[in-house]
Amino acid sequence: MAWSDYSRERSQPYKPGQKETFKVSRSKIEDFVRCPRCFWLDRRLKIARPDTPPFQINKAVDELFKKEFDVYRSKGQPHPLMIEYNISAIPYSHKSLDKWRANFTGVQYLHEPTNLLIFGAVDDVWVNDQGELIVVDYKATSKKSEVSLDAPWQISYKRQMEVYQWLLRKNGFEVSDTGYFVYTNGRLDLDGFFDKIEFRTKVIGYTGNDDWIEPTIHKIKECLEQEKMPAPGLDCEYCGYARKRTELTLAALNIKT
Ligand code: SF4
Repeated sequence: MAWSDYSRERSQPYKPGQKETFKVSRSKIEDFVRCPRCFWLDRRLKIARPDTPPFQINKAVDELFKKEFDVYRSKGQPHPLMIEYNISAIPYSHKSLDKWRANFTGVQYLHEPTNLLIFGAVDDVWVNDQGELIVVDYKATSKKSEVSLDAPWQISYKRQMEVYQWLLRKNGFEVSDTGYFVYTNGRLDLDGFFDKIEFRTKVIGYTGNDDWIEPTIHKIKECLEQEKMPAPGLDCEYCGYARKRTELTLAALNIKT
């Protein structure tokens, strides 16, 4: 089956022992790492956690960054941010770049030992002087302090970058361990909104290590095959809420567990 056929298929739950290739996105890998139970419920039974509203402002920033970097890509020149941060690279041109950036295709790799098709959409790819690809992720926020990657929860950003680096390597490219977050911060110190938000952008380098990905894919496969619901992972407000609510309902019905 061609890659494009996999992407057009409606997502079906995984059936243990299935022979068909099963798609696992970068974000589902993240779900698994955080909590195998939620991953299993979602991929095996199609019971997903309640959705959050889409981050449309962040999506707008992503789109505009893409357009901005594309101008320099077409000229084969570094973007001013690359010059400001002393990064010897230019935006990378490749016939598959649009596909790599598209949510439902992304960069794909069929992991044959598990028959899982791993995929993820990159924001951007640059190329350095040595011909190595550089994975780039755009991030947008608005906070008083400087943007950084220091918060514990930002491990998910780092894992995200490592999955893209791994995917590109598996597609035969030389990929630098160093990736960059183009991280922009909406200013809160101005006098008013006046139909615009001003941003300040930093470029933050990160050295990735994709050693965890291969063993994690095998664990994902084992999880998909198992009949028993896995234990929950991290502290999570959703399961706590569901448990307390169930306890109250059972108590109200006078049902003892
Ligand atoms: S603990 Fe959270 S993430 Fe895990 S199964 Fe419960 S709701 Fe899902």
